[in-house]
Amino acid sequence: MIIVMLGAPGVGKGTMSKSLSEYYEIPHISTGDILREIAAKNDPTSKKVKSYIDMGSLVPEDIMDDLITKRLEESDTINGYILDGFPRTMTQVKFLENYLEKNNKKIDAIINLETPKEEIIDRIINRVVCPNCNAIYNLKYNKPIVEGHCDVCDTKLVSRSDDTKEKVEARLKEYENKTYDIIKYYKDKGELFKVLICDIAGKTSKEALKSIIWYIENKNK
Ligand code: AMP
Repeated sequence: MIIVMLGAPGVGKGTMSKSLSEYYEIPHISTGDILREIAAKNDPTSKKVKSYIDMGSLVPEDIMDDLITKRLEESDTINGYILDGFPRTMTQVKFLENYLEKNNKKIDAIINLETPKEEIIDRIINRVVCPNCNAIYNLKYNKPIVEGHCDVCDTKLVSRSDDTKEKVEARLKEYENKTYDIIKYYKDKGELFKVLICDIAGKTSKEALKSIIWYIENKNK
């Protein structure tokens, strides 16, 4: 099973991908998480990656091609995976299509998560993450049990360096400029399943998860 999660930064792709990963027992591959691990090291590539993340800009395609190829070739991907944060450009869409074709595989579902912009900003500035196991919390809607500590591994929670109001605006711009085209591309091919998550309208991520699973199980019937 190969699932692609699309949607603007802060829309909840990470949280939803984690739930789907547990449900289908396939790995959650977040290019953002992989890049943050690279950025935390201390070599020339790490510094370059960190500078793009800090600007809220997309990391160049040559780095992304290598990174995604290596990750998709790891042994845990044998029964599929959930791609979160990749593809983000038409170049990456084409790269993924070629890669899957060469390996005789295909995408089973492409999910587009949507949330109103004001809610995205509010969610991002209230987001804290675990630097050890990548669990995601929200100080308003999904607090950790013990303040400041991860429920899963007890590590001290942190805010991502790109989760500030200014950087969110830059990331949303980058999303509109570069990623919106791929939403249109998949939509025109009739392959996109759109799901709204909106706390204010009572559309919770639990309901969204149910409708995604329903879609996946019924789409080929
Ligand atoms: P995310 O955790 O998905 O919000 O990603 C955090 C940051 O990592 C983004 O703002 C980009 O700088 C970088 N990034 C993640 N995925 C990609 C990608 N597919 N292509 C280029 N840059 C990416």
